[in-house]
Amino acid sequence: MLKTKNVFRALAWGMVTMGVIMGAVFPLFVMLFGVAEATAFSTLFMMATLVAGFAVGILNYFLASKIVRPRLRRLSEGMKEVSEVMDQAAFTGDWSGCDPAVCLLTEQDEGELGAVAGSYNALLYALHDAHQIESQIRHFTQTLSSSLELNELGDQALTLLQEIATAQGGAIVMDRQGEWKLLVSHGLAQPDRVADSELFQVRQGEAIVRRIVLPPGVTVDAVLTHFVPADVILAPIMHHGLVLGWVVLASSTTFPDRVPRLLPMLMQGLGLALNNALMHDDLQRVAALDPLTNVYNRRFGMKRLDEELSRAARNKTPLALMMLDLDHFKRINDTFGHLSGDKVLVRMTNVTREMLREGDILLRYGGEEFVVVLPGASLQDAREVAERIRFAISHSPVDVGDHALTVTASIGVSAISGSRTVSSEELITMADKRLYAAKAAGRNRVIYEGIA
Ligand code: GH3
Ligand code: MG
Ligand code: MG
Repeated sequence: MLKTKNVFRALAWGMVTMGVIMGAVFPLFVMLFGVAEATAFSTLFMMATLVAGFAVGILNYFLASKIVRPRLRRLSEGMKEVSEVMDQAAFTGDWSGCDPAVCLLTEQDEGELGAVAGSYNALLYALHDAHQIESQIRHFTQTLSSSLELNELGDQALTLLQEIATAQGGAIVMDRQGEWKLLVSHGLAQPDRVADSELFQVRQGEAIVRRIVLPPGVTVDAVLTHFVPADVILAPIMHHGLVLGWVVLASSTTFPDRVPRLLPMLMQGLGLALNNALMHDDLQRVAALDPLTNVYNRRFGMKRLDEELSRAARNKTPLALMMLDLDHFKRINDTFGHLSGDKVLVRMTNVTREMLREGDILLRYGGEEFVVVLPGASLQDAREVAERIRFAISHSPVDVGDHALTVTASIGVSAISGSRTVSSEELITMADKRLYAAKAAGRNRVIYEGIA
């Protein structure tokens, strides 16, 4: 709070003293205009001028104090009020009382008082902006820490970034094994083409926030956006000096100035969060995949089978399952060695995978035994797929040393029609029985019926 009291006391003393001094020199002054010395220095005249000087000093002081003091007080009280609200807001988190719309000081004076109020208002705006930026960063960081799932995280981050930047369109592309892949996009007409952009091809260490502002009147062919972009920002997502990806934001109007300055701060948190999500993704993959064949391992694959079975029961849709075992595989190991056996296994899973559709599940059930789950497939559908797989395996020789090794597989198929619910164990047992019937019948064949 301003201590106006002391200032005004000093002002009063100064003015009264000036008045008295003026009164004291006034007799000398009037002599210049021909007043006789005796008159000018008569006690009465001197007293009169001193009293007049004193009175003028007092009057000046009162005028100044009546005009200036209330305005200073108003300024000081306004400032005090806002500082109290801010004090509270730091604890309550409610900054609405400090909004410039509520707290601005109004001072009509164009001189110093107006300048004081103006500076104070500018300070208020700066504080408000700083607080807004701080709360945006905090909210962004909180959101990032709420998810470990890569796509969900990307989606939430992009939504917030667009909100902060007031961007109608945006995308996040990520480096996946050396290739740019789109993670998420909003408001873009052809999101699949974003990752192909030349703009991301910068060398490591040269990745900085880049901005492409199109001069008014210049329009580009907006192939990627539904609107005509006027301003595009590209911000690298870094972690430990490496570029993990890029955020692209596009707007039909120019971005506010604070956006390019704010983005690097937000990118730091995003880099850390996306790196964690990538690690989580990798861990999930390691936990779910068989390291040799890269198909689901038994534990994860069976979990997926249970999920698909529940879905089939819920939607009353069919589901088929096949159990596949390579024929005389032991001989391959014994004759050509374990590594050659491994090579055959990898080749055989790749051949099988190529025969399947998206949504089908291939899992390694044991050594050279595989399970294929075909959601939505009837027994007949599955039989056809099984025949195609059997045929493809037997026509895909594997080079082992000097030999082109041909392997065959036996397959047992089971299915649920949609009207009956069965457990995964029942389904597997049935397919297993049919598999062994296929073995007994001479191998390299598919059995899908006749075994209860
Ligand atoms: P069948 O036609 O009756 O199935 O004869 P088979 O020789 O294939 O018999 P079986 O299924 O019992 O043999 C499985 C063999 O697969 C035994 C094991 O050495 C081999 N095997 C299991 N896992 C692996 C693996 O990861 N790599 C290699 N190279 N061989 C494996
Ligand atoms: Mg076998
Ligand atoms: Mg076996």
